[in-house]
Amino acid sequence: FTKSLADLKDQPAVTQDGFHVTLLTNTGLLADVSPGLLNGAEGIGLYRSEIPFLIHDNFPTEEEQYQVYKEVIDAYSPRPVAMRTLDIGGDKQLPYFEFKEENPYLGWRGVRFTLDNTALLVTQIRAMIRAGHGRENLQILIPMVSRIDEIKSIKEVIEQSIAELQKEGKQTSIPKLGIMIEVPSAMLLLDKMAPYIDFVSIGSNDLTQYLLAVDRNNPKVSRLFDNLHPAVLSALQIIREKCSQFNLPVSLCGEMASDPASVLLLIAMGYDRLSLSAHRIPKIKWLIRQTKREDMLRLLQKANEAEDEAEIRKMLNRKLKALG
Ligand code: PEP
Ligand code: MG
Repeated sequence: FTKSLADLKDQPAVTQDGFHVTLLTNTGLLADVSPGLLNGAEGIGLYRSEIPFLIHDNFPTEEEQYQVYKEVIDAYSPRPVAMRTLDIGGDKQLPYFEFKEENPYLGWRGVRFTLDNTALLVTQIRAMIRAGHGRENLQILIPMVSRIDEIKSIKEVIEQSIAELQKEGKQTSIPKLGIMIEVPSAMLLLDKMAPYIDFVSIGSNDLTQYLLAVDRNNPKVSRLFDNLHPAVLSALQIIREKCSQFNLPVSLCGEMASDPASVLLLIAMGYDRLSLSAHRIPKIKWLIRQTKREDMLRLLQKANEAEDEAEIRKMLNRKLKALG
Protein backbone atom coordinates (compact mmCIF):
# COMPACT_ATOMS: atom_id res chain seq x y z
CA PHE A 1 0.00 0.00 0.00
CA THR A 2 2.85 2.38 0.92
CA LYS A 3 4.51 1.64 -2.37
CA SER A 4 1.35 2.37 -4.31
CA LEU A 5 1.08 5.72 -2.49
CA ALA A 6 4.69 6.54 -3.39
CA ASP A 7 3.94 5.73 -7.02
CA LEU A 8 1.36 8.51 -6.98
CA LYS A 9 4.07 11.19 -6.71
CA ASP A 10 4.03 12.10 -10.36
CA GLN A 11 0.33 11.48 -10.93
CA PRO A 12 -2.07 14.43 -10.95
CA ALA A 13 -4.65 14.86 -8.18
CA VAL A 14 -7.66 14.67 -10.43
CA THR A 15 -11.13 13.28 -9.83
CA GLN A 16 -12.56 10.60 -12.11
CA ASP A 17 -14.64 13.25 -13.84
CA GLY A 18 -11.69 15.56 -14.47
CA PHE A 19 -11.65 18.09 -11.60
CA HIS A 20 -8.00 18.90 -11.04
CA VAL A 21 -6.71 19.81 -7.56
CA THR A 22 -3.29 21.41 -7.01
CA LEU A 23 -1.72 19.97 -3.86
CA LEU A 24 0.68 22.32 -2.10
CA THR A 25 2.46 21.88 1.19
CA ASN A 26 2.61 23.64 4.56
CA THR A 27 6.09 24.03 6.00
CA GLY A 28 8.46 26.24 7.95
CA LEU A 29 11.42 23.93 8.43
CA LEU A 30 14.28 23.46 5.98
CA ALA A 31 14.15 19.79 6.91
CA ASP A 32 10.72 19.65 5.22
CA VAL A 33 11.92 20.83 1.83
CA SER A 34 12.89 17.48 0.37
CA PRO A 35 10.02 15.46 1.94
CA GLY A 36 7.66 18.01 0.35
CA LEU A 37 9.16 17.54 -3.10
CA LEU A 38 9.41 13.77 -2.64
CA ASN A 39 5.72 13.59 -1.81
CA GLY A 40 4.87 15.50 -4.97
CA ALA A 41 4.03 18.97 -3.53
CA GLU A 42 3.30 21.37 -6.39
CA GLY A 43 4.49 24.35 -4.36
CA ILE A 44 4.35 25.75 -0.83
CA GLY A 45 0.90 27.03 0.02
CA LEU A 46 1.94 28.16 3.49
CA TYR A 47 5.47 28.84 4.69
CA ARG A 48 5.11 29.54 8.43
CA SER A 49 7.96 32.01 8.87
CA GLU A 50 7.55 32.05 12.65
CA ILE A 51 9.14 28.59 12.77
CA PRO A 52 12.69 29.81 11.93
CA PHE A 53 12.10 32.58 14.50
CA LEU A 54 11.05 30.03 17.12
CA ILE A 55 14.17 27.94 16.70
CA HIS A 56 16.51 30.93 17.16
CA ASP A 57 17.40 32.40 20.54
CA ASN A 58 17.04 35.96 19.27
CA PHE A 59 15.44 37.74 16.29
CA PRO A 60 17.22 36.36 13.21
CA THR A 61 19.04 39.04 11.19
CA GLU A 62 18.09 40.00 7.63
CA GLU A 63 21.04 37.98 6.36
CA GLU A 64 20.08 34.90 8.37
CA GLN A 65 16.49 35.10 7.17
CA TYR A 66 17.61 35.71 3.59
CA GLN A 67 19.70 32.51 3.59
CA VAL A 68 16.84 30.36 4.87
CA TYR A 69 14.16 31.86 2.61
CA LYS A 70 16.43 31.62 -0.42
CA GLU A 71 17.06 27.96 0.15
CA VAL A 72 13.32 27.28 0.21
CA ILE A 73 12.50 29.49 -2.79
CA ASP A 74 15.32 28.02 -4.87
CA ALA A 75 14.42 24.44 -3.99
CA TYR A 76 10.82 24.93 -5.10
CA SER A 77 11.33 27.22 -8.09
CA PRO A 78 9.46 27.46 -10.42
CA ARG A 79 6.70 26.16 -8.13
CA PRO A 80 5.03 28.91 -6.06
CA VAL A 81 6.13 29.59 -2.48
CA ALA A 82 3.71 31.59 -0.29
CA MET A 83 5.77 33.04 2.55
CA ARG A 84 3.69 34.28 5.40
CA THR A 85 4.98 37.20 7.43
CA LEU A 86 5.58 36.50 11.11
CA ASP A 87 2.45 35.14 12.79
CA ILE A 88 3.18 35.20 16.49
CA GLY A 89 0.82 35.95 19.33
CA GLY A 90 -2.12 33.68 20.13
CA ASP A 91 -0.54 30.39 21.18
CA LYS A 92 2.75 31.19 19.42
CA GLN A 93 5.19 33.09 21.65
CA LEU A 94 8.85 33.77 20.92
CA PRO A 95 10.90 32.77 23.99
CA TYR A 96 12.95 36.00 23.62
CA PHE A 97 9.97 38.32 23.22
CA GLU A 98 7.23 37.19 25.59
CA PHE A 99 4.15 39.18 26.41
CA LYS A 100 1.09 38.30 28.45
CA GLU A 101 -2.45 39.12 27.40
CA GLU A 102 -5.88 38.40 28.83
CA ASN A 103 -7.18 37.17 25.45
CA PRO A 104 -4.17 36.30 23.29
CA TYR A 105 -6.25 35.06 20.34
CA LEU A 106 -8.01 38.41 20.21
CA GLY A 107 -4.86 40.35 20.83
CA TRP A 108 -1.50 41.32 19.46
CA ARG A 109 -1.27 38.64 16.78
CA GLY A 110 -0.04 38.26 13.20
CA VAL A 111 -0.22 41.45 11.15
CA ARG A 112 -1.28 43.48 14.19
CA PHE A 113 1.98 42.60 15.89
CA THR A 114 4.22 43.14 12.86
CA LEU A 115 2.67 46.51 11.93
CA ASP A 116 3.45 47.69 15.47
CA ASN A 117 7.02 46.44 15.17
CA THR A 118 7.97 47.98 11.85
CA ALA A 119 11.71 47.40 12.07
CA LEU A 120 11.08 43.70 12.43
CA LEU A 121 8.60 43.69 9.55
CA VAL A 122 10.87 45.66 7.22
CA THR A 123 13.77 43.30 7.96
CA GLN A 124 11.62 40.30 7.14
CA ILE A 125 10.11 41.78 3.97
CA ARG A 126 13.57 42.81 2.73
CA ALA A 127 14.90 39.31 3.37
CA MET A 128 11.97 37.75 1.51
CA ILE A 129 12.21 40.09 -1.48
CA ARG A 130 15.97 39.64 -1.74
CA ALA A 131 15.54 35.86 -1.52
CA GLY A 132 12.95 35.95 -4.30
CA HIS A 133 15.18 37.86 -6.68
CA GLY A 134 15.77 36.09 -9.98
CA ARG A 135 12.83 33.78 -9.41
CA GLU A 136 9.19 34.32 -10.20
CA ASN A 137 7.75 32.14 -7.47
CA LEU A 138 7.76 34.24 -4.29
CA GLN A 139 4.37 35.24 -2.91
CA ILE A 140 3.93 37.18 0.34
CA LEU A 141 1.05 36.19 2.58
CA ILE A 142 -0.32 38.31 5.47
CA PRO A 143 -1.75 36.53 8.54
CA MET A 144 -4.69 37.60 10.76
CA VAL A 145 -5.95 40.34 8.45
CA SER A 146 -9.18 41.86 9.77
CA ARG A 147 -9.11 45.35 8.20
CA ILE A 148 -8.35 46.88 4.81
CA ASP A 149 -5.85 49.40 6.17
CA GLU A 150 -3.65 46.49 7.29
CA ILE A 151 -3.27 45.40 3.66
CA LYS A 152 -2.55 48.96 2.54
CA SER A 153 0.10 49.37 5.25
CA ILE A 154 1.82 46.13 4.29
CA LYS A 155 1.76 47.17 0.63
CA GLU A 156 3.48 50.42 1.60
CA VAL A 157 6.18 48.54 3.50
CA ILE A 158 6.74 46.28 0.48
CA GLU A 159 6.93 49.25 -1.90
CA GLN A 160 9.32 51.15 0.40
CA SER A 161 11.51 48.09 0.86
CA ILE A 162 11.73 47.60 -2.90
CA ALA A 163 12.65 51.26 -3.40
CA GLU A 164 15.34 51.05 -0.70
CA LEU A 165 16.78 47.82 -2.07
CA GLN A 166 16.97 49.37 -5.52
CA LYS A 167 18.76 52.41 -4.08
CA GLU A 168 21.28 50.02 -2.53
CA GLY A 169 21.81 48.55 -5.99
CA LYS A 170 20.10 45.26 -5.17
CA GLN A 171 17.84 43.90 -7.87
CA THR A 172 14.33 43.00 -6.91
CA SER A 173 11.13 41.68 -8.37
CA ILE A 174 7.67 42.53 -7.10
CA PRO A 175 6.07 39.59 -5.29
CA LYS A 176 2.40 38.70 -5.49
CA LEU A 177 0.54 39.66 -2.32
CA GLY A 178 -2.11 37.58 -0.59
CA ILE A 179 -4.01 37.52 2.67
CA MET A 180 -5.04 34.76 5.00
CA ILE A 181 -8.77 34.58 5.48
CA GLU A 182 -9.03 33.43 9.06
CA VAL A 183 -10.92 36.25 10.75
CA PRO A 184 -14.61 36.47 9.79
CA SER A 185 -14.37 40.20 9.04
CA ALA A 186 -11.87 39.49 6.23
CA MET A 187 -14.39 37.14 4.64
CA LEU A 188 -17.10 39.78 4.84
CA LEU A 189 -14.80 42.51 3.46
CA LEU A 190 -13.49 40.43 0.57
CA ASP A 191 -15.24 42.60 -2.05
CA LYS A 192 -13.44 45.68 -0.81
CA MET A 193 -10.13 43.92 -0.23
CA ALA A 194 -10.02 42.27 -3.67
CA PRO A 195 -8.51 45.26 -5.55
CA TYR A 196 -5.50 45.27 -3.20
CA ILE A 197 -4.55 41.60 -3.36
CA ASP A 198 -3.50 38.91 -5.84
CA PHE A 199 -4.68 35.77 -4.00
CA VAL A 200 -6.18 34.49 -0.77
CA SER A 201 -5.44 31.56 1.47
CA ILE A 202 -7.98 30.25 3.95
CA GLY A 203 -6.69 29.39 7.41
CA SER A 204 -9.49 27.03 8.33
CA ASN A 205 -8.09 26.42 11.84
CA ASP A 206 -8.41 30.02 12.88
CA LEU A 207 -11.47 30.70 10.75
CA THR A 208 -13.27 27.88 12.59
CA GLN A 209 -12.02 29.10 15.96
CA TYR A 210 -13.18 32.67 15.31
CA LEU A 211 -16.48 31.76 13.64
CA LEU A 212 -17.50 29.39 16.42
CA ALA A 213 -15.85 31.32 19.27
CA VAL A 214 -14.14 28.10 20.36
CA ASP A 215 -10.56 27.94 21.59
CA ARG A 216 -9.59 24.53 20.28
CA ASN A 217 -6.71 24.26 22.76
CA ASN A 218 -9.13 24.55 25.68
CA PRO A 219 -10.14 21.00 26.62
CA LYS A 220 -13.40 22.23 28.16
CA VAL A 221 -14.70 23.34 24.77
CA SER A 222 -12.50 21.64 22.19
CA ARG A 223 -15.27 19.11 21.40
CA LEU A 224 -17.17 22.07 19.94
CA PHE A 225 -14.36 22.74 17.46
CA ASP A 226 -15.18 21.12 14.14
CA ASN A 227 -14.42 22.28 10.59
CA LEU A 228 -17.60 20.53 9.48
CA HIS A 229 -19.84 22.78 11.60
CA PRO A 230 -22.57 24.00 9.22
CA ALA A 231 -21.56 27.64 9.79
CA VAL A 232 -17.99 26.88 8.71
CA LEU A 233 -19.20 25.06 5.59
CA SER A 234 -21.44 27.97 4.77
CA ALA A 235 -18.56 30.45 5.19
CA LEU A 236 -16.34 28.38 2.92
CA GLN A 237 -18.98 28.41 0.18
CA ILE A 238 -19.34 32.18 0.47
CA ILE A 239 -15.56 32.68 0.23
CA ARG A 240 -15.28 30.36 -2.78
CA GLU A 241 -18.05 32.23 -4.56
CA LYS A 242 -16.55 35.66 -3.83
CA CYS A 243 -13.13 34.55 -5.04
CA SER A 244 -14.62 33.37 -8.34
CA GLN A 245 -16.49 36.63 -8.67
CA PHE A 246 -13.29 38.66 -8.19
CA ASN A 247 -11.03 36.26 -10.06
CA LEU A 248 -8.89 35.68 -6.98
CA PRO A 249 -6.98 32.41 -6.78
CA VAL A 250 -7.84 30.78 -3.45
CA SER A 251 -6.26 27.94 -1.55
CA LEU A 252 -7.09 26.39 1.80
CA CYS A 253 -4.21 25.67 4.15
CA GLY A 254 -5.70 24.67 7.52
CA GLU A 255 -5.89 21.13 8.91
CA MET A 256 -9.12 20.67 7.00
CA ALA A 257 -7.15 20.18 3.78
CA SER A 258 -5.77 16.93 5.16
CA ASP A 259 -9.01 15.60 6.64
CA PRO A 260 -10.41 13.11 4.08
CA ALA A 261 -14.06 13.73 5.05
CA SER A 262 -13.64 17.50 4.66
CA VAL A 263 -11.79 17.13 1.36
CA LEU A 264 -14.87 15.48 -0.18
CA LEU A 265 -16.87 18.64 0.49
CA LEU A 266 -14.05 21.00 -0.47
CA ILE A 267 -13.94 19.37 -3.91
CA ALA A 268 -17.67 19.87 -4.26
CA MET A 269 -17.34 23.53 -3.28
CA GLY A 270 -14.80 23.98 -6.06
CA TYR A 271 -11.61 24.32 -4.00
CA ASP A 272 -8.86 23.34 -6.41
CA ARG A 273 -5.82 24.35 -4.34
CA LEU A 274 -5.17 22.65 -1.01
CA SER A 275 -2.09 23.01 1.16
CA LEU A 276 -1.19 20.36 3.71
CA SER A 277 1.66 18.60 5.50
CA ALA A 278 3.86 16.78 3.02
CA HIS A 279 3.32 13.34 4.49
CA ARG A 280 -0.45 13.67 4.08
CA ILE A 281 -0.27 14.52 0.36
CA PRO A 282 -0.20 10.95 -1.04
CA LYS A 283 -3.27 9.85 0.90
CA ILE A 284 -5.31 12.91 -0.08
CA LYS A 285 -4.22 12.55 -3.69
CA TRP A 286 -5.24 8.90 -3.65
CA LEU A 287 -8.66 9.91 -2.26
CA ILE A 288 -9.20 12.64 -4.86
CA ARG A 289 -8.42 10.14 -7.61
CA GLN A 290 -11.12 7.78 -6.29
CA THR A 291 -13.89 10.37 -6.31
CA LYS A 292 -16.30 11.85 -8.81
CA ARG A 293 -17.01 15.51 -8.25
CA GLU A 294 -20.56 14.94 -9.44
CA ASP A 295 -21.15 12.59 -6.48
CA MET A 296 -19.52 15.07 -4.09
CA LEU A 297 -21.91 17.77 -5.25
CA ARG A 298 -24.79 15.59 -4.08
CA LEU A 299 -23.04 15.07 -0.73
CA LEU A 300 -22.58 18.80 -0.34
CA GLN A 301 -26.23 19.39 -1.02
CA LYS A 302 -27.12 16.95 1.77
CA ALA A 303 -24.51 18.48 4.08
CA ASN A 304 -26.06 21.89 3.50
CA GLU A 305 -29.40 20.54 4.67
CA ALA A 306 -27.96 18.96 7.82
CA GLU A 307 -28.42 20.54 11.22
CA ASP A 308 -25.11 19.71 12.82
CA GLU A 309 -21.61 18.45 12.18
CA ALA A 310 -22.27 14.99 13.67
CA GLU A 311 -24.85 14.27 11.00
CA ILE A 312 -22.49 15.56 8.30
CA ARG A 313 -19.52 13.55 9.50
CA LYS A 314 -21.59 10.37 9.66
CA MET A 315 -22.68 10.80 6.07
CA LEU A 316 -19.12 11.58 4.89
CA ASN A 317 -17.68 8.60 6.76
CA ARG A 318 -20.17 6.34 5.01
CA LYS A 319 -18.94 7.70 1.68
CA LEU A 320 -15.27 7.29 2.66
CA LYS A 321 -15.92 3.67 3.61
CA ALA A 322 -17.56 3.02 0.25
CA LEU A 323 -14.54 4.55 -1.51
CA GLY A 324 -12.24 2.17 0.36
C1 PEP B 1 -4.94 28.38 10.06
O1 PEP B 1 -5.28 29.20 10.91
O2 PEP B 1 -5.72 27.53 9.58
C2 PEP B 1 -3.55 28.35 9.55
C3 PEP B 1 -3.21 27.59 8.55
O3 PEP B 1 -2.64 29.13 10.20
P1 PEP B 1 -1.94 28.67 11.56
O4 PEP B 1 -2.38 27.24 11.82
O5 PEP B 1 -0.48 28.80 11.34
O6 PEP B 1 -2.49 29.63 12.54
MG1 MG C 1 -3.96 30.82 11.43
